Amino acid sequence: MTAGLLEVWRDTRQLVLAAQIAAIYAAALIPFKVGIPIIPGFVELRPANAIPVVASLLFGPAAAWGAAFGNLIGDLFGTLGPGSLFGLLGNFLYGYVPYRLWGRLGPLSSGRPPEPSAPRQILEYALICILASLACAGTIGWGLDVMRLLPFQVLAPAIFLNNVLMSSLLGPPLLLFLYPRVARWGLLYADGPHDRKATWAHSPVPAQAQPAPDAPRMLIRDLHFTYRNGAHPALHGLSLSVKAGTLSAVLGGSGAGKSTLCYCLNGLIPHYLPGEFSGTVLIDGRDTRQATVSQHARSVGLLFQDFEAQLVSTNVDRELAFTLGNLCPDLSREAIAARITDTLRLVGLDGHRARDPLSLSGGERQRLAIASVLAPRPPVLVLDDPTTDLDPACRGLLYALLRHLVETGTTVVLTDHETEDAVPAVGLLRETGLPWRAAAYS
Ligand code: ADP
Repeated sequence: MTAGLLEVWRDTRQLVLAAQIAAIYAAALIPFKVGIPIIPGFVELRPANAIPVVASLLFGPAAAWGAAFGNLIGDLFGTLGPGSLFGLLGNFLYGYVPYRLWGRLGPLSSGRPPEPSAPRQILEYALICILASLACAGTIGWGLDVMRLLPFQVLAPAIFLNNVLMSSLLGPPLLLFLYPRVARWGLLYADGPHDRKATWAHSPVPAQAQPAPDAPRMLIRDLHFTYRNGAHPALHGLSLSVKAGTLSAVLGGSGAGKSTLCYCLNGLIPHYLPGEFSGTVLIDGRDTRQATVSQHARSVGLLFQDFEAQLVSTNVDRELAFTLGNLCPDLSREAIAARITDTLRLVGLDGHRARDPLSLSGGERQRLAIASVLAPRPPVLVLDDPTTDLDPACRGLLYALLRHLVETGTTVVLTDHETEDAVPAVGLLRETGLPWRAAAYS
């Protein structure tokens, strides 16, 4: 439970995020120190109190540290005192509770990402605000009471009301604006790469009818998609059926819509990338519109064409541990360690476990990104242009690996350019003797 919190201190990128949250929180707190005091010297009206809740739902544990230290920095501008220690602790909880509880409120959870637009999401958001505010107000109120600075019944209700009011009024518009953007930038904690590793992994997958044994693993019917800013449809009337345990190569020139198709397969479209969507995408009979991206992430692993954006950790080992921690919460520590070893061996990176991904070569980073997608062993693997940075030997290794995966039941879809480069790539696919299909799409 605390692993994610400590991870922030080991992961430079999360640490920078925590520092930024602290800076923004403090910057928004300080002007109001001279604003409207509720209890002078202890608590003032704080519109900034929406920030820890919003940051927590977007960025996870970095928000807990950011809220704690942001509040302390704010205290330096007028309210620093012995009670600041409890201010630090209370604000830590205020940034910690929201991401820990979202999706974990049993029947009261919406099963959807924290964008408070539908009534169930608004209800869940309101409950989260109340619980986080209780934790914060209770801690600070109790601490200052013990130190005989202010009675609990005076301070705790003032903090509680302040927090609930500000997070409920200002949080929803902030989240509605920020959530889709942060998701698009691939910076979400829970539901990440792009929903990178982002996943409210604990939210239940909606019940679905069991597909018949011979039913296609993927079925696309009359798929149209036009990006919000797109002049033309990126996909126009695509229909495709892919059987389980096969390899499909989708070939097309630049701009043909290959990446767009990949985003449709794991639900990034229509959930996060805005535009006009029509048609149906079914994965094992489940409509991608009916489940969240994080739920899809467990059945469809996607390697982005921009694979660098997929790497989030500061060493090779942790990169895979992060993915497995998010997508396979039931795996024991030992099982995770074994899975990391196996997967790194498969991509030939076993000797680089302690390396910072930034110190690896381009090809090694691409192999690491492939390993990270592969580690949770998704039944469907979608690889968007997976060989751009690989030398011929590594391509051979990848195709042999794909062969092994397909033979053991994984369904693989990969895209490639319809250029001269693709010819040997497709030739290699032929050589593997896989039950492969090439669908040229433009
Ligand atoms: P490919 O992967 O085959 O190169 P893409 O799926 O990336 O093609 O792009 C298909 C079309 O959609 C292109 O015309 C591209 O310019 C457009 N497109 C891609 N992403 C966006 C976006 N975020 N906004 C607007 N148009 C986009």
